[in-house]
Amino acid sequence: MPLQLISGDITKMSVDVIVNAANQRLRAGGGVCGAIFNAAGRNQMQEACDAIGFCDTGQAVITPAFNLHAKAVIHTVGPIYSNGKNPDEELLSSCYLKSLELALANGYKSIAFPLISAGIYGYPKEEAIQIAVKSILSFLRSHELTVYLVLFNPRDLEPAQRWMEHYDQLTSSGIE
Ligand code: ADP
Repeated sequence: MPLQLISGDITKMSVDVIVNAANQRLRAGGGVCGAIFNAAGRNQMQEACDAIGFCDTGQAVITPAFNLHAKAVIHTVGPIYSNGKNPDEELLSSCYLKSLELALANGYKSIAFPLISAGIYGYPKEEAIQIAVKSILSFLRSHELTVYLVLFNPRDLEPAQRWMEHYDQLTSSGIE
């Protein structure tokens, strides 16, 4: 199964790459970002991010993972929700696609995502889940990678499963 939905703490994942829901200035923040920085080693992760300096919304950059089980951290900056107006959806989708491309370009085979923009950046959960699942599945149609979507709240597993089945059916019926 190339996309696996799980519930838990992303900092505990033993995968090649963990994705961070970062901010443009690549500063240690709250939410999943704070948890990743703390688990990686706050000072060394901040130094690596400062050397890069900035990441635009919808883009992704890569650093070592330091004390995490992973080999690398990809930092991607989700959009701050603005009532679902374009280009929110494209930017959020771009976070997943750019991160997946960057992982493959660096030779990695497994990657774990949190639900980008669905916390402090205010994206409605259901929409954030739908965009995450759709973007990852569309990438996996033409690329080999093991992808985990790590849902902090176990209640998010059911909608994620539902969207995954929905897009699987569209693909197998040739609609998408
Ligand atoms: P953003 O600023 O992009 O909204 P947040 O960190 O505020 O990022 O939240 C993104 C998602 O990550 C939320 O759904 C939040 O519940 C989840 N999250 C927070 N901590 C963790 C963690 N340790 N592992 C996995 N997901 C987490």
